[in-house]
Amino acid sequence: MPEERTLTRRDLIATTAKAAAVAAIALPAAKAATAAGPARPVAVASRNGLAAVKLAVERMLAGAVPVNAAVAGVAIPEGDPDEVGVGYGGLPNEDGVVQLDAAVMDGTTMRAGAVAALERIKHPAAVALEVMRHTNRILLVGEGALKFARAHGFPEENLLTERSRKIWLLWKENASGKDDWLPDPKEVEDPDIRWFIEQYGDSYFRPAGTIHLSACAADGRLGCCTTTSGLFFKVSGRVGDSPLVGCGLYCDSEVGSAGGTGHGESNIISVGAHTVVEFMRQGKSPEAACLATLERVAGNTRLAYLKDEAGRPKNNLYLYAVNRAGEVGSAAIWATARSQYAVCRAGSEPQLLDCAYLYKREKA
Ligand code: ASP
Repeated sequence: MPEERTLTRRDLIATTAKAAAVAAIALPAAKAATAAGPARPVAVASRNGLAAVKLAVERMLAGAVPVNAAVAGVAIPEGDPDEVGVGYGGLPNEDGVVQLDAAVMDGTTMRAGAVAALERIKHPAAVALEVMRHTNRILLVGEGALKFARAHGFPEENLLTERSRKIWLLWKENASGKDDWLPDPKEVEDPDIRWFIEQYGDSYFRPAGTIHLSACAADGRLGCCTTTSGLFFKVSGRVGDSPLVGCGLYCDSEVGSAGGTGHGESNIISVGAHTVVEFMRQGKSPEAACLATLERVAGNTRLAYLKDEAGRPKNNLYLYAVNRAGEVGSAAIWATARSQYAVCRAGSEPQLLDCAYLYKREKA
């Protein structure tokens, strides 16, 4: 039972040295970037990741391994109260409690760490990284994840900002006409509520936000991270795709790295990120791999309430990918004004590019 035995310090040092030697053998040097080839390091992320991809590339240029660079990058939106789908200021669950999900993966060692339904810790991706580094397990949830974070010195704080509390209350008061909650029409005049409606609209009051970031180092090694407060006003304890290895993120330094944001349950059923990496392994470009995976997601969407009148999925899902040569791509089920992704390469400023897509509504 080698996995269960306790490693002594000597074992650990020997194992680490061996792993480094194996990695060096297993990974042929990636093709050096040529004038025609894409420059590396490169980082790709969801649309809200412009600052994050820039920082991730800076960190990789300074020598950080991709997974560490990815976690450094996503700490920016995690700490930003205006990012209401991630970390501090994230919109809460239906009980008004902010519960965060995050995962990291290192595509060279094939190790991963994750936390789910974690409360009161602003940077869940950093906790996931500690799970990867300091345990031989992958996913910690709820109270156990919080205890682990405390043990590693992460400060506990209230993550529910005043703005997020007001938005949650408005949702609660408008969720049903059959409960005791009564909306006050004047609430929509509140600047925080106006801000939210301007960003997300008021017709469909359950959007969400997440950041995925895949990072490719100069030598083609890969790492990734996905972090989120999940679907807005989710049922307490619900865990989405983001912290699930293979769904919200996956990477293999022999092939590529991928991740997803959007409707988590659709991504879980099709094991989205792993599927993208497998399509890249078969030779598809990152963009073609994302599109092929979304076609599978559409095919797996079989319940009537999840489909529109033309049989297409109602929910949107975005996938992002980079291969070890540094080529990037992204695709969405639905093209919308927000279907863009963030990319930064060594020597260039970060930019937003348009996602490929399966469908476009006449009136987007
Ligand atoms: N995928 C996330 C979840 O289902 C939400 C999002 O990406 O917007 O929790």
